[in-house]
Amino acid sequence: MSTAVSAYERLRAAHLHTVQAALIDHIGRLDWSREEIERHQTHRLRALLGYAKERSTFHSSRLSDIDPATATVADLASVPMMTKQDAQNEWDSIVTVNDLDRAQAERILAEQQWFSYTPGDEQIFSSGGSSGVRGVYVWDWNYYVSAACLAWRVQAREELRTQGNGPARLAVLAAGTPPHASTPLFDVPTAAGMETAVIPVGVPFDEILAAVAAAQPTHMVGYASVIGRLARAASAGELKISPVRVSTNSEPLLDEDRQAIRDAWSVPVHNLWGSTEIGVQAVGCARGEGLHVCEDEVVLERVDENGMPVGPDEPAVRTLATGLANRTFPFIRYDLGDQVTWLPDPCPCGSAFARVADIGGRRDDDFQYGTITVPASAFRYVLGTDPRVSEYQVTQTVGGADILTVGSPDITTLTAAVVTALRAQGLSDPAIRIQITDRLRRHEATGKLRRFVPLPSQG
Ligand SMILES: [Zn+2]
Repeated sequence: MSTAVSAYERLRAAHLHTVQAALIDHIGRLDWSREEIERHQTHRLRALLGYAKERSTFHSSRLSDIDPATATVADLASVPMMTKQDAQNEWDSIVTVNDLDRAQAERILAEQQWFSYTPGDEQIFSSGGSSGVRGVYVWDWNYYVSAACLAWRVQAREELRTQGNGPARLAVLAAGTPPHASTPLFDVPTAAGMETAVIPVGVPFDEILAAVAAAQPTHMVGYASVIGRLARAASAGELKISPVRVSTNSEPLLDEDRQAIRDAWSVPVHNLWGSTEIGVQAVGCARGEGLHVCEDEVVLERVDENGMPVGPDEPAVRTLATGLANRTFPFIRYDLGDQVTWLPDPCPCGSAFARVADIGGRRDDDFQYGTITVPASAFRYVLGTDPRVSEYQVTQTVGGADILTVGSPDITTLTAAVVTALRAQGLSDPAIRIQITDRLRRHEATGKLRRFVPLPSQG
């Protein structure tokens, strides 16, 4: 093991102990009343606004009409929306610590051999995200602790209640490598003595299947589509495992995948809605429908297209999120770009945390080449994390793909990287053509971009 990796592992072990300690507090919060939730949320909001106004040049002008001493969620309406472009273009004036800027964050991403911590205990992540626009993010020590607790506290409470039988093993189906935040976020034991095994998903499905069979997990966490596919394999007799709990993330959980998981294993499914910017916005309790909003650490606002809040019965065009735990890179009234529907009725689980319906939206299309399926993620891992690609669109061809990129990538290097990623999926000699363009053509009515365009004639 290299020196850098072992230094990372030692700090990470310390970090995970911080998470385990904080989980006890977080499990207690799950029983809070509305009043307790709102009191905590208001204090956290005032703390964030006061800090951001003092330490972030970007936010200090945006927050000029806000008095952090008395601010409430309703007062956020006077603050402009923050877009993904704002966050990436204004990086250096948003970040609140002196010893970190965008150039240095890019350098860390380019030079690190594995996940790493800065001397200031920050982790730098990058993601193409669902929008396909590349982002660079900084997670400070406490923000990671918050996000990990939000991701796992519901499941951890269930583990305490059931006191499972025998050793627990968590299979973590995630990118497995930097620069994505998903592996550190989900590779977290939630029961005493639980072991974890990270299974990278950027390989052919047969290899994922074999790795999961070998791990014999009692618990699984990962991409909704991958776990759905594993469930179908189990029902077909191709995978013999006996999980007791499943957590899904990173993609919409489609009904067909939820049903496949139910058919295969009849286990509770905790679906998670998160983002690298905010961490974790909401998590399913596996008792009632939808997801419980993590209101103690996140403020969600339903707004119209101009960012003005709408009433509970009025349709919302956008959902703005304010992350209360991210002090180093504050996101305040950030447009997540997801469509969210609130569920007004109390949840059968008894929680006082508000609920939203499962996050909709369609998943990126997989590309089918004969018998080989190449998931959109194979392209996204490469194109979404190249620092010189700001946006891209992938169109399937008979033997490969035509790719349009906005930015200034090194075409030769990028082409080679995409070819390598597709070979890993079992496509032996993919034909990849990459071109640079000024802008991508969006759907005229919705303004949305179809990022992955499969060949039309698929059976
Ligand atoms: Zn519930």
